[in-house]
Amino acid sequence: TVVILSCSQKIIQPKVVFSKKDILENRVDSVMKLMTLEEKIGQLNQYNGFWEITGPTPKEGQAAKKYADLKNGLVGSMLNVKGVKDVRALQKIAVEETRLGIPLIFGFDVIHGYKTISPIPLAEAASWDLVEIKRSAAVAAEEAASVGLNWTFAPMVDISRDARWGRVMEGSGEDPYLGSQIAVARVQGFQGDNLNAKNTILATAKHFAGYGFSESGRDYNTVDVGESTLQNIIFPPFKAAVDAGVRTFMNSFNELNGIPATGNKYLQRDILKEDWKFDGFVVSDWGSINEMMAHGYAKDSKQAAEIAINAGSDMDMESYAYVEYLSALVKEGKVKESVIDDAARRILRVKFELGLFDNPYLYCDENYEKETVGKPAFQEAVLEMAKKSIVLLKNEKELLPLKKSGQKIVVIGALANDKTSPLGSWRIAADDESAVSLLEGMQKYKGNNLTYIKGADVAVGRTQFVWETKINMTDKSGFAEAIKAAKGADVVVMSLGEHGLQSGEGRSRTDLGLAGVQQELLEEVYKVNPNVVLVLNNGRPLAIPWADENIPAIVEAWHLGTQSGNAIAQVLYGDYNPSGKLPMTFPRSVGQVPIYYNYKNTGRPVMTEPDSVFWSHYIDEENTPLYPFGYGLSYSKFEYSNIELSQKSFADNGQIEVSVLLKNTGKYSGKEVVQLYIRDLFASVTRPVLELKGFEMIELQPNETKKVSFVINKKTIEFFSANSKWEAEAGDFKVFVGGSSTKTLEADFQYKKN
Ligand code: BGC
Repeated sequence: TVVILSCSQKIIQPKVVFSKKDILENRVDSVMKLMTLEEKIGQLNQYNGFWEITGPTPKEGQAAKKYADLKNGLVGSMLNVKGVKDVRALQKIAVEETRLGIPLIFGFDVIHGYKTISPIPLAEAASWDLVEIKRSAAVAAEEAASVGLNWTFAPMVDISRDARWGRVMEGSGEDPYLGSQIAVARVQGFQGDNLNAKNTILATAKHFAGYGFSESGRDYNTVDVGESTLQNIIFPPFKAAVDAGVRTFMNSFNELNGIPATGNKYLQRDILKEDWKFDGFVVSDWGSINEMMAHGYAKDSKQAAEIAINAGSDMDMESYAYVEYLSALVKEGKVKESVIDDAARRILRVKFELGLFDNPYLYCDENYEKETVGKPAFQEAVLEMAKKSIVLLKNEKELLPLKKSGQKIVVIGALANDKTSPLGSWRIAADDESAVSLLEGMQKYKGNNLTYIKGADVAVGRTQFVWETKINMTDKSGFAEAIKAAKGADVVVMSLGEHGLQSGEGRSRTDLGLAGVQQELLEEVYKVNPNVVLVLNNGRPLAIPWADENIPAIVEAWHLGTQSGNAIAQVLYGDYNPSGKLPMTFPRSVGQVPIYYNYKNTGRPVMTEPDSVFWSHYIDEENTPLYPFGYGLSYSKFEYSNIELSQKSFADNGQIEVSVLLKNTGKYSGKEVVQLYIRDLFASVTRPVLELKGFEMIELQPNETKKVSFVINKKTIEFFSANSKWEAEAGDFKVFVGGSSTKTLEADFQYKKN
């Protein structure tokens, strides 16, 4: 009840004070009361908006059906519509022509930027810079919101240990702790403090769950993981996203232990909605409700709809199954109306939170769109993000930083002159050729004599994609010119790796090397001039053992987005001292995959007898990675010493402070990501040899020393135990502090239960 008091009346304190939440729920109720079953189901229906929206009204086919459903209030959301003009046109139909005028929400894959493109998410993760990552998401949100969008299908928080899986480019790598921190930063960046503002958008934690563990790294493949891995490795970033207030989840294409994620009640109801108390909504992945037929889990689309809604998938993205069958399923008693109500309430709740019931055109401001898209401040932000994402893998012979004058530099490689590849995968709205190429970035430094030779194309794999047909994978005709130019150079900069679309969805690989003739080109050039700086552009960890052994300087520059070339050039010329650390292990060979730092020991971790073959190893490859998780160099050198613990043990609510001294012994000021790992020596479920539990970025001038401290408490050592709950078990632990998951100082501590 709303009581309006006139100004002359004495204000009486109401007996019942409504919380914001109560008011919101009341508003949702007030709409729900007006809705027919069909209209509620309509809210659960999401369509791809591919027709010419502001063009003539579609008269036939799928587009006509979608259009009719929209007018009849049978659509709750659209995806892939962009631009204020189109969004406004559709919103107008929903608001002004349907019976109840419920506004639509507009979703889009704003994965690492809308038009101004940030580094791919895996690259951003390499910065370990949560403030910058949050800013990058906020920039993407603002630009996307200005074109009418209010919902991004990001962040992807799937942990993956498999570089063969093309979608590792879209996540934060292999570690649940780092992944959780980044999930929070991204959710906060997209959603801001106030969802009801015109520069923030809804975030989506996806893909729930297990997608990053697809067998053999082949996209969409079967996932079979035990409860310990699910709880300790896969769930944490999702849980962190819920705790950070993420408002939507997306389920996943894969089956998990025999049940497709989309039809998985354990995941969506028991874990997400019951245990974690998530009160936002779950959208299916594209067509994933119908995909349950191919999985062999639903006999037809109708049964798929029944399974999915009962399992807790609230919104149907492009399966057309809910809008088609839910009404009949309710009438047949196969789906309870309360299940539909719950899903509709969740979606309406989020629409209220976005402010769309107060102003459905909140996101439809043409002037704001014009002044926002591509604005200079965004360019600065993505440039900062790009510089921070670069990881220096090797730097011998002081090849880097390059001198700013007097050098003859030859740049080789198709990627160096590519203005599209740096945008990477998932940049649907960005214009081709809109990135600064490496060559353009380097050309801004005018003191040197710079020449460019392509040498060879980037091979991109099989020829099923349009962009691959242009490329000849075996063409070596450019070698001679490259070799000739390299001969007389002081330094050769070679930009090699993957085409921007060689990673991403559906881009799994079985070869993690420099595909095609790139490896051969590298070796040929090196033969005539060993002063090679290898700049890697790629969307996943690569296996490049030959380069690691021979090439003196290697820079991991990923796909860095719109400002790519400027960022790399600033690092190469020393105007930015690299500080990135790998968020994912680089293997020596694809046969080691999955390879990751937080593995568990076997019963036979090391060779006990000199000639024994019966220990856990390969006979043709080392166990160690090429570059470990957390690894990355700087132009400075950092020295760790004096690990100290405030006490040797703690109980219940106590804590231990761990500190180390960090000294910059190099010539440059620089930043170092100091990492804290623990090892739980014995537990009710075997624990990894190392687990990241904290990190901090420290900036030091040459010769400067700082004390860096971390706190260890119960939270640090909790895990999903044999009691099937998160708890801290008493026992012995080791703590490690260092600049990667391998080079560390260590100490022992204990946790005692009172
Ligand atoms: C992907 C999702 C994406 C959706 C919508 C699917 O193929 O798996 O991550 O959000 O398409 O574009």
